[in-house]
Amino acid sequence: MYNELKILRPGSFEVIFISIDRNKEEFQASLSAMPWLAIPYSDTARQELTRIFAIKGIPALLILGMDGKILKTDGRTAISAYGATAFPFTESRVSEVDEALRKEGDKLPRRVNDPRHSHELELDRAKAYVCDECLQKGRHWVFSCKQCNFDLHPSCVEESK
Ligand SMILES: [Zn+2]
Ligand SMILES: [Zn+2]
Repeated sequence: MYNELKILRPGSFEVIFISIDRNKEEFQASLSAMPWLAIPYSDTARQELTRIFAIKGIPALLILGMDGKILKTDGRTAISAYGATAFPFTESRVSEVDEALRKEGDKLPRRVNDPRHSHELELDRAKAYVCDECLQKGRHWVFSCKQCNFDLHPSCVEESK
């Protein structure tokens, strides 16, 4: 997701890791798994920022605007629900994306029959799934059989009447 946005929106955002690790070794270990910037372990700004932003639980992802004001305190929810398309994750952009997704869903049938599956497939919204036909990841809309945990991209359905 970070790498995807780095390509889509180069130079327009940055992620900064504020560690609350208790020692430098833990900090280094956390950091080595992350592609983004971090406030150095020795910098006391770490504690100050955690206090200023009133971080209660971790991991927390705050989305800040250009002016440093908080746009979203639950960045994780917005990002996992909408992905890179909802950048920069402001309320208005998120509702725009949500509206577009709803319209996309309105064009799809509620139920379909695909010759490759014996049960009827039902249209549903999904945060993330893997399509059983092309084996690629999908999100937002899915045709699925709950009983078999069988999922298809709307574009992978071969409708039979
Ligand atoms: Zn597919
Ligand atoms: Zn089934």
